[in-house]
Amino acid sequence: MRFFSTKNNAVSVGFKDALFQGLAEDGGLYMPETIPHLGTDFFQSNLSYSECAVGMIHPFTKDDLTLAQLSDICELAFDFPIPIKKLNETDSVLELFHGPTLAFKDFAARFMARTMSHFLENENKEITILVATSGDTGSAVANGFFNIEGIKVIILYPSNRVSAIQEKQLTTLGGNITALEINGTFDDCQRMVKSAFQDAELRSRFTLSSANSINVARLLPQSVYYAWAWKQCGENNPIIFSVPCGNFGNLTAGLFANRMGIPVEKFIAATNANDTFPYFLNSGTLQDQDAIQTISNAMDVGVPSNLDRIQTLFDDDINLIKKDISSWSFSDDETKDCIQNIHNNFDYLIDPHTAIGVLGLNEYREKTNSRTKGIVLSTAHPGKFADVIEPIIGENIPLTDSLQIAMKKERISIKMSKKFSDLKDYLLPK
Ligand SMILES: *Cc1c(COP(=O)(O)O)cnc(C)c1O
Repeated sequence: MRFFSTKNNAVSVGFKDALFQGLAEDGGLYMPETIPHLGTDFFQSNLSYSECAVGMIHPFTKDDLTLAQLSDICELAFDFPIPIKKLNETDSVLELFHGPTLAFKDFAARFMARTMSHFLENENKEITILVATSGDTGSAVANGFFNIEGIKVIILYPSNRVSAIQEKQLTTLGGNITALEINGTFDDCQRMVKSAFQDAELRSRFTLSSANSINVARLLPQSVYYAWAWKQCGENNPIIFSVPCGNFGNLTAGLFANRMGIPVEKFIAATNANDTFPYFLNSGTLQDQDAIQTISNAMDVGVPSNLDRIQTLFDDDINLIKKDISSWSFSDDETKDCIQNIHNNFDYLIDPHTAIGVLGLNEYREKTNSRTKGIVLSTAHPGKFADVIEPIIGENIPLTDSLQIAMKKERISIKMSKKFSDLKDYLLPK
């Protein structure tokens, strides 16, 4: 399978190159040249999670990985439970936060780390992974790539805009992981990373790679849990997926799963106050916005990179996008009310990101009266956002063991301005 750049169809690379390059040289994002339709037979067969993953990912990676190699990677990467919590007859929550850093980013980070490690095993090469994070990507990448031979990870995160727990998870590992604390927003961090990729001098001195959702290898493993959730519903009918969106990688992965054969009535792209996408669907205009700080901080993205991919998937036709995706934005107050309501009505705790997803599904039901089964993707463990949730519910949330350990460690980060030249000076000291 070849992967082409969203900026220029003529630029195309194989899976391994797409994985290691992250961003195409022209600044475009890699897209698979086709998304194979696997048919419902495949999805209805009795497969384990990692077998399902292998079946879905193999068409994209078969030029570079044998089935056996891909199987080993998937079995190691996806070794945690993925429960579905049923709220009522129609609505369920897919808990994607049982990996080591308690957010769904573990799926992609663990897959990428193991895949890269596989390719580097026989090459005497060092690569540097540059990653911008609004919180959870950094932790998942740090954890997934920690101690992997031949890989150095540099994480850029916005100062004062990640939760205490997130910060601890990405600044306390040491070893091959370095955390840069940027005096700016997530978008600034993302811009710095993009500039680094386009800088000829850096490209010539380092083998730079990225682990952001600009990397197509992140989307492939994320498609799998959509299929898994649909299988668990035990129906042959389309269902609804409500996805709390920031950089729109998760939603794009869902669109891939849909093209591969998972029937979907509607995708709901639920956002916080960062409403670039719902605004786009309503008005037809894409506006670059500065990120607004909210309590669902991992979704504080003003310019979601995966919009390029979504537009490519729908041939730049906004009406086709609207047929498949509805999108609404919700405020922090609505988010807090939702956390409280779900706690009161179902004795169930959700984190602020998941709450945005629940609000999206509720809005869709109000607007359409649809009674189709709906799944909200739950992207983080509530314990990760205890500082937000505890005052809302008036109770303490006990820290999980892994969080307790992280909280006790000393945080080590390097403070930096949001100027690309400072990042470059750091990477290439004179
Ligand atoms: C990253 C993240 C999101 C947003 O996912 P995208 O793929 O960037 O849209 C939502 N919730 C949590 C908890 C996250 O960490």
